[in-house]
Amino acid sequence: MEVKKEQNREVQKPPRSAISPERRRRINRLKKMIVWTALFMILLPLTGCLILGVKLHRKDQQTERMAGQIRFLEQALQESVDEKVRLQALLQVNDADELEYEKTAETEGVPESYAEPLDGIRRVYLTFDDGPSPNTEELLDILAEYNVKATFFVTGKNKENYGDIYRRIVEEGHTLGMHSYSHEYDTIYASLENFQEDIETLQDFLYRETGTLSRFYRFPGGSSNKVSKTNIQEMINYLDARDISYFDWNISGGDATSASVSSDQIVNRVMSDMESHQVAVVLLHDAADKYSTVEALPKLIEEIQAMDDSTEILPITEETMPIRHALGNM
Ligand code: ZN
Repeated sequence: MEVKKEQNREVQKPPRSAISPERRRRINRLKKMIVWTALFMILLPLTGCLILGVKLHRKDQQTERMAGQIRFLEQALQESVDEKVRLQALLQVNDADELEYEKTAETEGVPESYAEPLDGIRRVYLTFDDGPSPNTEELLDILAEYNVKATFFVTGKNKENYGDIYRRIVEEGHTLGMHSYSHEYDTIYASLENFQEDIETLQDFLYRETGTLSRFYRFPGGSSNKVSKTNIQEMINYLDARDISYFDWNISGGDATSASVSSDQIVNRVMSDMESHQVAVVLLHDAADKYSTVEALPKLIEEIQAMDDSTEILPITEETMPIRHALGNM
């Protein structure tokens, strides 16, 4: 308002002589103020716009960068998913055999006519296939700690120091069983001759290493495996003739195929089947990658021992009731 009045006065422009120097200075000050105010009012929004513009541009760049990163991550994720699928497919191919055989064996299970003794004692046989490996030594340590004896169905491994493991199995009172020398299904089961040769090689090898002639056998993939091109009964007859007793299993720890099985899963799986058996032959593995099995063993032993006083953990012997899948030998 004040500014307007002043402006009006200025417009009227009184004669120059009528304006005192004091008033002129005031007018000039006002003029300057008006000019600055106007400038300020123009510059302020302009600067604001400019700053916002720059910020917006930067945000755009940032968004663009982030979009790029997201695209990169999406691509990497897709690649890793593809890799996982590829690895799973590979794993399935590698494990398909064992998985297939063990699945078949497990689902077919033991026929009902195969009665377990009802003397009130539950006999549990922990069996380990596919060793020896460094894991076997750890398992032996744990078994010694709990004073529990088990059964090891071993393969033929000519590695340095493995002789000590075969000997430890025998010396510490466990049962040394055979699980084929080569563990190569396609070769072993190609013919009866191959099967015989493989067993003889392993039995001789173990005798040289330990001084013990093993009389127990576990068919790779179980006696109900579907790989054998010859009649499994012929192989069983051969075992009988050699006075070798074979054992399958009626409880599986599930550690054969899945490398990712946890120790808890192994324990839970074994324990959930335990109630329904008076004779329990438990299938576990001690190959080099079976860390979960090592981890599971102490808890497994503790849970089995905690079941009741009439439960015993024993090594397989001549007295053990054979648990067998092959229907031809019931
Ligand atoms: Zn095996």
